[in-house]
Amino acid sequence: MDFSEIKRMEELFYSNTFTRLPIALKRGDGMYLYDFDGNRYLDMFAGIAVNCLGHSHPAVLKALVEQSRKLLHVSNWFYTLPQLELAKLLVEITGMEKAFLTNSGSEAVEAAIKLARARTGRKEIIAMENAFHGRTLGALSLTWEKKYREPFKPLVPAMRFARYDDIDSLEDKINKNTAAVILEPVLGEAGVIIPGKDYLKAVRDLTLDRGVLLIVDEVQTGFGRTGELFAFQKSGIKPDILCLAKGLGSGFPVGAMLSSGIDFKPGEHGGTFIGNPLACEVAKAVVETIIRDELHINARKVGSYLKKELGDKGFEVRGEGLMIGVETEDGKRKVLELIERSVLTIHSSNTLRVLPPLIIEKKHADEFLQKL
Ligand SMILES: *Cc1c(COP(=O)(O)O)cnc(C)c1O
Repeated sequence: MDFSEIKRMEELFYSNTFTRLPIALKRGDGMYLYDFDGNRYLDMFAGIAVNCLGHSHPAVLKALVEQSRKLLHVSNWFYTLPQLELAKLLVEITGMEKAFLTNSGSEAVEAAIKLARARTGRKEIIAMENAFHGRTLGALSLTWEKKYREPFKPLVPAMRFARYDDIDSLEDKINKNTAAVILEPVLGEAGVIIPGKDYLKAVRDLTLDRGVLLIVDEVQTGFGRTGELFAFQKSGIKPDILCLAKGLGSGFPVGAMLSSGIDFKPGEHGGTFIGNPLACEVAKAVVETIIRDELHINARKVGSYLKKELGDKGFEVRGEGLMIGVETEDGKRKVLELIERSVLTIHSSNTLRVLPPLIIEKKHADEFLQKL
């Protein structure tokens, strides 16, 4: 099938909402993706920080095949072991107490909003300017970008915004109606914005002092991306609620909301597909592989190498682990130029976002640097 035919099918049958890059992908293997003509691309964006084990990883394939022979879905009317084993694993590696599973990052944020409101009896949630928490109405109400919000107003009421990396701005916004503060440890969609070293700790101290819950959204930073299993662990804090998704399934849709000290009461929340055995077996295999192969440490190593080399080449670069932003004159043009040179990246305005699979090796980093 050729590219013009594929484009034509999209025009005829698919919703207009997505702006596509000009390639149709057919298959993937490790760090590489292949289009319909068999051209090979180095994957430096991992489906938006998702495919942490790259493509067609044997651990993912094994879990998919073995579990799909046994059970795909039975609903949450029954006990199933994979969801309990995944919950146990997530609790152990995060230090949180309870896990609630979801199908996506937005759903993890929705669960967090509901839990924060239900347990505190308060309505307001404070998010950060330039934050991204998802596209469903609740998560969208905590997302800053105007063009995502405007057509859908009125959004969920009582959501407010403080300036990121500015503890005074947050302190001003907290009041007796505040249920929770939600933030990303590194702003992802905003273009890899890293706060000061003590910021997260200051937010934790402030929220504890004022009796407000802290929701940490690690949908993008989680599972080794920033060089630690979870970015909040660098600050030595403990959130009340932790939202996870993207890297968890390495491409299989699955997310989680973890909580400490609070939990849903029977019947307060649910979902038909959430925690299904197939998603949970894949997620377990992904997390076990990250830990066994120390991919968070690899992220730290290859990330530092990339940052240093990019800096030496004269780029303005910032990043934590394999969450790297490179300033360019024109982000969109740079992404298209790199596609011409068989490298896939994404951009947030003029920041080129480099988010490769965590399995990346030095030779792939060198290939990227050379093509850049
Ligand atoms: C991607 C993202 C979300 C939304 O996740 P979806 O799976 O797209 O619904 C939420 N929070 C952060 C920080 C994200 O990067």
